[in-house]
Amino acid sequence: MSAPGLSVAVCGAGPAGLAAALRLHAAGASVTVFDAAPHVGGRTRTDPVDGWRIDPAVQLYGASYERFFGLLRAAGAEALSERSPGRDALWRKGRAHEVVYGSPASMLASGALPLPLKLRMGAQYLPFLQRHAADLDLGALERAAFAGLDAESIAAWGRRELGRDFVDLLAAPLLATLYGTLPEEASAGFYHALARQGMNLEVRALRGGADGFCRAAADRLREGGASLRLSCRVEQVDTAEAGVQVSADGWSERFGAAVVALPAPEAHRVAKFLTPEAAKTLHGVSVRPAASLALLLDRPAGVRWFGLSFAPGEARNVAAVCVQENKVGGLVPPGKGLVVVFALPHAAERLLGATPDDAVALLLPDVLRALPGIDRAVVGTRFYQWRHGWTIFGPGSLGRLPTLRALAFDSAPRAVLAGDWMYAPTVEGAVTSGLAAADRLLARAR
Ligand SMILES: Cc1cc2nc3c(=O)[nH]c(=O)nc-3n(C[C@H](O)[C@H](O)[C@H](O)COP(=O)(O)OP(=O)(O)OC[C@H]3O[C@@H](n4cnc5c(N)ncnc54)[C@H](O)[C@@H]3O)c2cc1C
Repeated sequence: MSAPGLSVAVCGAGPAGLAAALRLHAAGASVTVFDAAPHVGGRTRTDPVDGWRIDPAVQLYGASYERFFGLLRAAGAEALSERSPGRDALWRKGRAHEVVYGSPASMLASGALPLPLKLRMGAQYLPFLQRHAADLDLGALERAAFAGLDAESIAAWGRRELGRDFVDLLAAPLLATLYGTLPEEASAGFYHALARQGMNLEVRALRGGADGFCRAAADRLREGGASLRLSCRVEQVDTAEAGVQVSADGWSERFGAAVVALPAPEAHRVAKFLTPEAAKTLHGVSVRPAASLALLLDRPAGVRWFGLSFAPGEARNVAAVCVQENKVGGLVPPGKGLVVVFALPHAAERLLGATPDDAVALLLPDVLRALPGIDRAVVGTRFYQWRHGWTIFGPGSLGRLPTLRALAFDSAPRAVLAGDWMYAPTVEGAVTSGLAAADRLLARAR
């Protein structure tokens, strides 16, 4: 596909926007990328602070992220990707039990789970996941709905089929840590797709920071003559004669086409080209704030694990603690340490608009249980929050995804939407949406 002469505005320099920009640029379009932040990356952003490189949100990339790794290669940054040891732990009954990241199989082997639950997992859940293998694909979550697995929450399904421990010790920590979601609000089909992926999960990280892909993509685009306008918040994208009009405070510019690659509520605010039905559907996408606190340490944290999740009731406000020197190289100065702490969903809501001191007061007590005395090693803190941090894939939402995508792609001939909320709440979901959005525009430009 080629589109020489087509000028395209891409709003949003997260993985969805930059995936779209790379594909459009490769097809010969003249691309201009806008982002409200002073840096690229969106939620994959890495924050450099005094020799530390802090990943405040995205931590790991599944080895199964085919499109993401394909683009990383195309952007010339494949060498940044390293297998992460994947050594994690679940805090339960006052101590850390080691497990392998997200893997039900390793949960079976670990001391984290009571024996009766392990037996039910082995006899019932793993065979269930095998039986439904073809229905459980994080890249096509609607298949779980077609198989009848999207009608109830994983809390309801889990309590009935496998018992309360399954919900409390498996579903709750995984969902809170990786997706900012409670078992009561997550679709059973969504959780099963995650668990299915976890059966063969190899996790990778990017040396020097999670933003490695977005930085490399931005470099490739600039070298090829594309324009990146950072610190530039788009206020409105609307169709105009033979193209689109992109506007913000004090400026307005005409392009041949546009990709609006923003979190769903922001896309709903900015995209004026949506049909009433598309606007209503987009408004119905459920999102939730996220918050994290980075603790810069004058020594390593001194544990073997990378990510520690808490069983329900074991922490008041913290979902997970991630020790960055145990993830990948290039993040922490020699002899130092870096811990990133993720808030539980209710704590992230409570911290909206709060100060860094509020965040330390709320989150540090839980961290001290798992890392006693760590407060004495803290030489700096950074607090991060995202109003639109997580998309919640609740019961019934998976079956609506094909309609959501059709509305996002077909509302206007020259303007399309992209974002992780259209496929899956992961970087792979975001990249998939960006590539699909670019392909839509290119097909119409032929
Ligand atoms: C705490 C946390 C941890 C996560 N961990 C992982 C993980 O380990 N692995 C994983 O695969 N996924 C993870 N995710 C999910 C992942 O971050 C998202 O799926 C992915 O970043 C979505 O990409 P996107 O491009 O759709 O949106 P974003 O990354 O949010 O990018 C959107 C961009 O739009 C910009 N923007 C917003 N409004 C405007 C405007 N009006 N004008 C111009 N620009 C604007 C923003 O500044 C941002 O750069 C995590 C998410 C969170 C919140």
